[in-house]
Formats: sequence, C-alpha cells, structure tokens
Amino acid sequence: MIKFYNSLTKRKEEFVPHGDKVKMYSCGPTVYYYPHIGNMRAYLFMDNIRRVLKYNGYQMDGVINITDVGHLTSDADEGEDKMLVASEREHKSPWEIAKFYTDVFMKETKRLNIDMPEHIAPATSVIEDIIKFVEGLIEKGYAYQTSKGIYFDINKFPGYGKLGGAVDQKMAGARIEVDDEKHNPYDFVLWVKAPKEHIMQWNSPWGMGYPGWHIECSVIGNKFLGEYIDIHTGGVDHKTIHHENEIAQSDSLCGHQVVKFWMHVEFLQVDGGKMSKSLGNIYTLDDLKARGFEPEDFRYFYFMAHYSKQQNFTFEAIKGAQNSLKAFKTAVLSHKNGQNKLEEGVIEYYRKAFLEAINDDLNMPKALAVCQKLLKEEKSSQVYFLIEEFNKVLGFDFEESALPEEVKILAQERWQAKQNKDYAKADAIRAEILAKGYVVKDSKEGFVLEKA
Ligand code: AMP
Ligand code: ZN
Repeated sequence: MIKFYNSLTKRKEEFVPHGDKVKMYSCGPTVYYYPHIGNMRAYLFMDNIRRVLKYNGYQMDGVINITDVGHLTSDADEGEDKMLVASEREHKSPWEIAKFYTDVFMKETKRLNIDMPEHIAPATSVIEDIIKFVEGLIEKGYAYQTSKGIYFDINKFPGYGKLGGAVDQKMAGARIEVDDEKHNPYDFVLWVKAPKEHIMQWNSPWGMGYPGWHIECSVIGNKFLGEYIDIHTGGVDHKTIHHENEIAQSDSLCGHQVVKFWMHVEFLQVDGGKMSKSLGNIYTLDDLKARGFEPEDFRYFYFMAHYSKQQNFTFEAIKGAQNSLKAFKTAVLSHKNGQNKLEEGVIEYYRKAFLEAINDDLNMPKALAVCQKLLKEEKSSQVYFLIEEFNKVLGFDFEESALPEEVKILAQERWQAKQNKDYAKADAIRAEILAKGYVVKDSKEGFVLEKA
C-alpha cells in the first residue's frame, strides 16, 4: 500500500490512481534565471514520487509546465514582470531569455538524473487553449471582464481557501492593490489586457493581451492529463495562492474536483535562513561544483531529510552527504563480485523494508538506512543486485561512468590476472592504472576503483 500526505485533506491517505497510468502535474520553473538548489529540491521531489510509483509498477503520465510568459513577481498579481526584468538585464528579447533558461533548466535536471515527465509544456505553446479555458469560465459565470482584464470571481467558488487555509488569513497577510472594478479584492486575473508597449502579447476575444500566471497550470493539466489528475506537486510557497487559484479555475470549469492529491515540498534553507541575494547564498549546481561537490552529492543530500520538513543547506552538510555517498558507493561496489550466498529470506526482508519505507510517504532517510544495513551483510553479489534494484528509486551512478573506459578494462584484466595467479602481470597493470590516476582496492570478494 502506498501512502502519501495529501495537503488538501491534511492527512496521509492511501494512494490509488484513477486509471492505469498515474496522471501527475508538476509546477515548473519560470525561465528567467538560473535555477538554484532550492528549486532543484522541488524537482528532486517530483523525481522521487515518479521513481517510487514506477518502482511499484505504475506507468506514469506526467507533465511539467515551463512559465515562459512574463507574469508579475508576486503571486498576488502585483510587482514587476520577471521576464521583462531579465530581458532588460540581459539585453535580449523575452523569447530569447525563455529559450536560454529553458535549456539551462533541462541541463540542470539532467545533471541531477531527474526522471522528467512525459510532457514538457511551455505556457506560450498553449495560448489558444488558455483563451478557450477562460471563455469557458466566463460562459459558466465564474469570470468577468473589467477594463484591465478578465478576472476570476472567487465569491462564485465556495471552496476557495480549502488548501491554504482561510481566505481571511490571506487577506490579512497580503498587500493588495485595490482595483475598484474587481468584485472582491482577492479576485485574480485570468487574462491581462496588454498595454501597447508590452512585448509578449496575443490576440484574444478581449483584445491584445497575455495570460495571468495561474491559468497556464490549469490549462496544461487539462490539456495533457484530462479532468482527473492523481497528483499535483509544487513547493509550499505555491500552496496558499497559486494552487488555491488553480483549484478554483479547474474545478469550476470541470464541475468537479480535478486533483486528488496535492503534494508539497518544504523549502530548502541556506545557513538556517532564506536564500537571498543580499546574503549571496543563492547557490546553483555550478556553485556547488566550484567547491568540489557533484550534482549527485546534492541528490544524496536531498534524501537525508523528509520532503515535508525544511532542510538546511550548509557546506558542512553537503560535505557530509558527499562522504556518505562515497562510502555508500564503495560499499556497493565491494559486493559486486562477492561470492557469499545470503540466507533464505534475507533478500525478501530487505526488499520489504525498503518498499515499506518509500511507500510510507517517501520516507527516504529510512530507505537509506535500510540500504546501509543491507550493505553490512557478507560480501555477496546478491546484495549488489538488490541495491541496483533499489537504485531505480535512488538514481545514483554506482558504476562511476566518470571512470575512463580504459581504466575499467585494465581493472578487469588485472582482476583476471590475479585470479590466474599471474601476480607479476596484475602488479604491472596496477601500476598502469595508478599512472592514469586511479587506485584499485582489493578484498577477498572483489575490487573497487577509486581516484588516486
Ligand atoms: P519558480 O521558478 O520560482 O516558480 O520555482 C520553481 C519551483 O521551485 C516551485 O515549485 C517552487 O515552489 C520551488 N522552490 C522555490 N524556492 C524553493 C526552496 N528554497 N526550496 C524548495 N523549493 C523551492
Ligand atoms: Zn503551477
């Protein structure tokens, strides 16, 4: 049984998809700058869910949006247009900005070995669908027009606020620029009527304009996944406004609850606080690399905390993750050629423990502990193969593809020579390997290669 915490019902519930494929929507990046490691936590979370479901035998049908339309800096329809700011900063058109940072995003997810959704949908590719969706909301009486744009009428949607808490609370917290024409100050924009100078704009039944930023997620979800979506993911920051608005839009148009499980990942903090420009601690994978940490070390770091808890990033902590991952890999490889036969039932015991951990709302710290315990068993290739199986969820590269092919071949030859008791040859190859910058460490059961 798989259990996930559902932010909507505020409890752990058994997860069963509507159909034979799991339909999953993930809020994607706004492509105006380099994604930082906090963003990457959100995508590792997406990866985590996808891999766990696949491990359980489900097929996935997932989608992630790319916000490549300028929207306003804050969720509450105010502030500056992020794409426009970037475009001025870099003297490029918003389209060029979007293209560049979409590529960066794809590259970063690849570096982290993130299992990407089946569909990747830029907002600009669904403008027609957005217009139809908004028309549908107007027809059904959920939206109205002002001189500034088309707004969603939250008074028409009694469920408003069920995800993030009371609307009142939000009213107290949010700074809202009151627009006289709005029925309720918390009505949010679906379509913005664009001033002439606005760069990104499209023709619509309401004149030239561009979409409000919540609408793309409802539209992309509907277009690619349909009216019943099993899981929707995002960071906790999206819970109170963005996802509340998505629910209002989608459920109103479809006439029923669209998303069953809302899953939110807590924030990554840095040095115990929020990442900020002024503190200069908004790190990217390249920043980590410059200090000697691989993307994989960050992947291991991700597994060290439960997604529902804030996680604190420090260089000391990532150093710890790096050391643990290194020890983990060495231990895994030390089982590769292990000759021992595990007692009956041992494999099943670990398989069950691992599955129980991951299926209990993605308890990755516990899943890692199961692996650690398994690795303490006598050297056996059975352990190696079981870890390989678990690695479908973990997503590490045990074989060190970074190792040059020639070094791997030499190591095999040397192992063979040693088995043949041709020690002179084995030693000669060992020296050759060392000259290439690697050391071979032997045990009774096999060898591991490490950087010298
Ligand atoms: P954005 O591009 O700003 O829309 O953010 C992309 C994703 O990263 C969203 O799902 C955010 O909720 C998430 N996110 C932003 N900052 C953090 C953080 N510090 N920790 C975890 N997730 C974050
Ligand atoms: Zn979204």
